[in-house]
Amino acid sequence: MTPIAAGSALDVARAVRGGERTARSVTEAALEAIAAREPELHAFLHVAADEARVAADAVDDALRAGRDPGPLAGVPVALKDNLCTRGIPTTCASKILEGWRPPYDATVVVRLREAGAIVVGKTNLDEFAMGSSTENSCKGPTYHPIDPTRVPGGSSGGSAAAVGAGLVPLALGSDTGGSVRQPAALCGTVGMKPTYGLVSRYGLVAFASSLDQIGPFAGSVADAALLLEVIAGHDPLDSTSLDHPVPQVGRSLDAGVEGMRVGLVDELVNDIAPDVARRVREAAEELAKAGAVVEEIAVPEMRLGLSAYYLIAPAEASSNLARYDGVRYGLRVEAPDVAAMNVATRTAGFGPEVKRRIMLGTYALSAGYYDAYYGKAQRARTLIVRALDRAYERFDVLLGATAPSTAFAVGERTADPLTMYMSDVCTIPSNLAGHPAMSVPFGIGDDGLPVGVQVLAPALGEERMFQVAAALERAAGARWR
Ligand code: GLN
Repeated sequence: MTPIAAGSALDVARAVRGGERTARSVTEAALEAIAAREPELHAFLHVAADEARVAADAVDDALRAGRDPGPLAGVPVALKDNLCTRGIPTTCASKILEGWRPPYDATVVVRLREAGAIVVGKTNLDEFAMGSSTENSCKGPTYHPIDPTRVPGGSSGGSAAAVGAGLVPLALGSDTGGSVRQPAALCGTVGMKPTYGLVSRYGLVAFASSLDQIGPFAGSVADAALLLEVIAGHDPLDSTSLDHPVPQVGRSLDAGVEGMRVGLVDELVNDIAPDVARRVREAAEELAKAGAVVEEIAVPEMRLGLSAYYLIAPAEASSNLARYDGVRYGLRVEAPDVAAMNVATRTAGFGPEVKRRIMLGTYALSAGYYDAYYGKAQRARTLIVRALDRAYERFDVLLGATAPSTAFAVGERTADPLTMYMSDVCTIPSNLAGHPAMSVPFGIGDDGLPVGVQVLAPALGEERMFQVAAALERAAGARWR
């Protein structure tokens, strides 16, 4: 069976716009590929086959009528199931949203449709995006596309596995502490978190609002650039949306890295699995060979990231998740009075990790503990922001690992939440700072599974970041051809 992604998003859109393939035939191929691999992968929570066919036919009709359906004409896209899709179930992999069908599309979904993309389904995730392995889904885990005994990473593991397995050329995820980049690294795809505010979050179910961003998964840097340019840009429906021109990330992919100043971050290469560290160092060497000025830099404040994040994110989550009360959405467990109904619904509806976060967050915010925990975490956040600002006075981009190891075994880290949290140690600092960062596949680890190298940039530094990512992709291609 040839996977649909035998064809990048760019190739598919070109072929559809040029009349060589119909959007309908591309969609059928994607649906077939999904049906063939789903039993072992479990990447999808919902396959919207009928809606996808209708959308594909509309693209073909537009073409026949002489209209251009847009830059993603006929390209199948999968959406993490915390993005609202009108009339299509949106569950966040939580029992508490079972049966809920949003009355509106997220802004990113509207933009995808306007660009001619075909939404083929909703992908699995850790419940409410809380996790690093997609094992916290109320519907059961997603499995790694290359080795089914391993996890795909998380929390956007379904989107990562769908692109990694070649079922769809593009997918969207959300990244609060690394949930696009970490699974992208583990599944061997490109994954990117935009600058805070660059992509509208209207219609993204909120986890931690000062950190959440939606980001693309793709099989190549160029495809990720194409998708980012479609979804980015100001949206009056999101009050945190930046009113700033969209960085033109696709135009400098071939520009190379001559003279670019690259900082190899000690904290993102030491204390991680040696096989991953080796690849990161090789990536730095490749950039140097291509003309970049590469130097090592210590950013010790980054070590505060994990602890600060696991106070700030749960604190915000405890507030955001208060809305699931048995009245407004999905599940309701009947009880004699409203307070008892709230408790019964939340007890039955939330899984163990979500409950843990709500309790941690509520505790961190409670009177008497606020200064010691939440307040202190915010001060640590400021230290990280300042340290990164200083680093970017010397460097255009920073380089490090995306994840501290390759894909780990299913069940390996579920018993100990702290071990699971450690999976995010390399990705969290960019979320706390609101900066963009992306993961590019760069060879394999000792176990034969993909390694991701992370490129970090200052706020709105996407264009250079993509330029470096593209250089790394070329170097990886030349090395492991
Ligand atoms: N794995 C991290 C967490 O569990 C990050 C999640 C995310 O980015 N959504 O919170």
